[in-house]
Amino acid sequence: MTTGKVNRILSNLLEVKIEGKVRQNEICFVESRGVSLRAEVIRIVGDIASIQVFEPTSGVRVGDPVKFSGKLLEITLGPGLLSRNYDGLQNDLEAMEGTFLTVGEITAPVSDKAIFAFEPLAKVGDKVSAGHWLGKVKENQIDHKIMVPFTMEGDYEVTWLANAGDYPITETMAKIKDDHGNETSLTMTQRWPVKKAIRAYKEKLRPYKILQTGLRVIDTFNPIPRGGTGYIPGAFGTGKTVLQQAIAKNSEADIIVLVACGERANEVVEIFTEFPELVDPRTGKTLDERTTIICNTSNMPVAAREASVYVGMTMAEYYRAMGYNVMLLADSTSRWAQALREMSNRLEELPGDDAYPVDLSATIANFYSRAGIVTLPNEEAGSVTFIGTLSPAGGNFKEPVTESTSKVANSYYALSQARADAKRYPAIDILESYSKYLDYEEFIDNANEHIENGWVQKVLEAKNLLKNGRSAYEQINILGDDAVPIDYHIQYWKSELIDFTLIQQDSFDEVDQNCPMERQAYMLNLVLNVCHKEFAFDDFEEVRTYFQQMTNKFKQMNFEPYQSDKFKQYEKEIADLIDEKTSTLAN
Ligand code: ADP
Ligand code: MG
Repeated sequence: MTTGKVNRILSNLLEVKIEGKVRQNEICFVESRGVSLRAEVIRIVGDIASIQVFEPTSGVRVGDPVKFSGKLLEITLGPGLLSRNYDGLQNDLEAMEGTFLTVGEITAPVSDKAIFAFEPLAKVGDKVSAGHWLGKVKENQIDHKIMVPFTMEGDYEVTWLANAGDYPITETMAKIKDDHGNETSLTMTQRWPVKKAIRAYKEKLRPYKILQTGLRVIDTFNPIPRGGTGYIPGAFGTGKTVLQQAIAKNSEADIIVLVACGERANEVVEIFTEFPELVDPRTGKTLDERTTIICNTSNMPVAAREASVYVGMTMAEYYRAMGYNVMLLADSTSRWAQALREMSNRLEELPGDDAYPVDLSATIANFYSRAGIVTLPNEEAGSVTFIGTLSPAGGNFKEPVTESTSKVANSYYALSQARADAKRYPAIDILESYSKYLDYEEFIDNANEHIENGWVQKVLEAKNLLKNGRSAYEQINILGDDAVPIDYHIQYWKSELIDFTLIQQDSFDEVDQNCPMERQAYMLNLVLNVCHKEFAFDDFEEVRTYFQQMTNKFKQMNFEPYQSDKFKQYEKEIADLIDEKTSTLAN
């Protein structure tokens, strides 16, 4: 094993004189006054390795010994990852004393005393390779598959398999042999280096099927499919965190992996205390049964912050390989990019734009490319859908991290300061935002079949009405209420109806917070029906009073259970209101 000695100390960056070979991103340990500090090699020049320590380095001295492990930054994958809170190095935060790790402390990611009920899925003689399902155990509500480790290259044959029964996590569950007869024993767990994508699948497909989030701004207007990618940039306080947590609560994903790169330390604590109590509307169980949280705060060392998004992605890929739809959320990825910047600056690398590393775009692109919907070795499907938030300074979306992200994420949810100020939540500006998936033929076909025939066309029509409403509004503002044709007022108020009924959604209302697709489609049709009408008004005041009344009824509808008596009552009142003032447009 290679060793070395600390040569120079620049905060968490140490230069180590090495005796032997080390590799890029190899994990090493600095032995300093009785504690062992974990670090990662981030640059090698000649016999000097620059290492980034994951923990505070205040006690480290020049001359302290360093031991290199020969391994990359790895995490443990196995049953028991759900319902847990980890830090960026997969330390179990609940197993620790206090909220933060003491220096040198490492806690076990899964308990080696845990016992799981195993059921075989393969049999002796089966030909298998990385990612094949050998058996399953119950983890909370899901069947956790025990798989051939992703690190095993080539083909194997199952030579032994445990019988169904209760086993500790450390026990051998299966044995497999390669072409040369070499046998390997497998347990319920495996290790994987987080910065590498898990590729134990047959094929990655183009995303085609919507992943419902229960949020109209996403599902109706700019949908994200299973295996899709999206990003939510917004200035401080515009609603990124509330939005992501709403997605975490209401999305129909089987598994949620939440990476919290805290803007504020107390936010992370809030998530920890809130999540275990929230009830999953689909299963009636608490939400944390299907959720894993990886957290770090801005006071954690930079390398641990950098690692956390990779830890989250690796866990998401792991559950995807079991055939699940996983939603990975990271809030905020700007904090991650800042960690990259700090590391690069300490290395005194030639900086790119805004002092970010020159390979920032490539790093972000690589990360996003790990999402996707895949066909597994057994022809089942699994997906990782990824949505990241960004907090560009001053709400300037032209900065390098937002720009680089915009090139690789296919759905874009632009948070608007003006909308947040007006308390129009979620403060997404639909006209600025987009989903490229609305152009995917696969997606359009799937929506035709599973949502409604002609669905995407209707969505585009609603967006168009919003656009017309905005230009009418601008004209009214410039010329004055009286100086524009009444039609302008009607156009504007139709777009307001869409805004209040379909775009705005109360994340804190029991009913409105989660709007299933069927209900979203019903409401879009109802609103479009109003927009198709030709109204006769005497003056713009009348337009306003009428539409305010109408909009109010639609808003009330959103708070009533779908198709309940009250819901139908409002629908009836709306129909009567329409009859008062219209004749149907030919459209
Ligand atoms: P960010 O993460 O962008 O800094 P937050 O998500 O913390 O912003 O939101 C800031 C505040 O705005 C919240 O505490 C809440 O009061 C309000 N808010 C944001 N989104 C919503 C929403 N969808 N519904 C109601 N209030 C919201
Ligand atoms: Mg936030």
